Amino acid sequence: MVDRLAKGWFSEVSSEMWPGQAMSLAYEEILEDVQSDFQHVQILKTKTYGNALCLDGVIQITERDEFSYQEMMVHVPMFSHPNPEHVLIIGGGDGGVLREVLKHPALKSVTQCEIDGTVIELCKKHLPSIAQSFHHPKANVIVGDGFEYMKQHQQEFDVIITDSSDPIGPASSLFEKEYYSLVRSALRDGGIMCAQGECIWLHLDLIKSMQEFSRTLYPVVDYGYLTIPTYPSGQIGFILCSKNSETNFRVPLRRASSEDMRNMHLRYYNPDIHSASFVLPQFARLALEEA
Ligand code: SAM
Repeated sequence: MVDRLAKGWFSEVSSEMWPGQAMSLAYEEILEDVQSDFQHVQILKTKTYGNALCLDGVIQITERDEFSYQEMMVHVPMFSHPNPEHVLIIGGGDGGVLREVLKHPALKSVTQCEIDGTVIELCKKHLPSIAQSFHHPKANVIVGDGFEYMKQHQQEFDVIITDSSDPIGPASSLFEKEYYSLVRSALRDGGIMCAQGECIWLHLDLIKSMQEFSRTLYPVVDYGYLTIPTYPSGQIGFILCSKNSETNFRVPLRRASSEDMRNMHLRYYNPDIHSASFVLPQFARLALEEA
């Protein structure tokens, strides 16, 4: 049995998702350590990454580097849509994706369906710079299973963002073809979806199969990535699908000006990195473009 909290170091060990490697963070204090109805929830005060949320022993977000993931998961799909008025977030219990969605002036409503109310409450308490928007007047937050929620909604949303944990535990259904098909039905005409798309260094086979089934459902499918120190191998991707065959995710449909970027307090996203995120290293390009 591996000691995940040995000598002041938290180590992220997963023999299934990243065998033989582990990201470690030095921590000063364990602020929360509870078993919710769905998962083991921990919040650590780390030495150099601020407070960190871990679920079932896996780092979900740290205060220091969260912005790269949240901004790319939100602004790439939002700037690829002509007028994103109604948005749905599945998962995302730390509140970071919600915070970024609310920065878009076209937005009229944002619904969030997170399975675990404990995650939301603990993030409000210990990660307030991330979990700051749950009470925003445009936000409607529901505690429930995203897969079940999707079955009950048709043609409602312009953009659906799935900010899920890994496909082990409560999020496993969110990586399946049936879920992507339900998302398609819940999107309005021309709608766009973006989902956590795992890592090219570790999960190429999973990404390939997700791309393959997505292409049977949507006319446009693409995969981009971002860098982030505290996710396994320092990289994570996002799968994008559009119901509009004219969509080209690689060039922002609406280009954020310098003033927009200042007003939105962007720290990672800009129109150039939007396009650059689709430029894959050759091994990944070969694997995914052949998919
Ligand atoms: N960005 C992170 C990562 O990739 O490590 C994930 C963020 S974390 C906040 C993902 C959230 O998805 C968790 O709060 C978890 O409770 C939620 N989640 C997992 N399965 C879900 C489901 N079936 N429906 C809704 N939310 C779910």
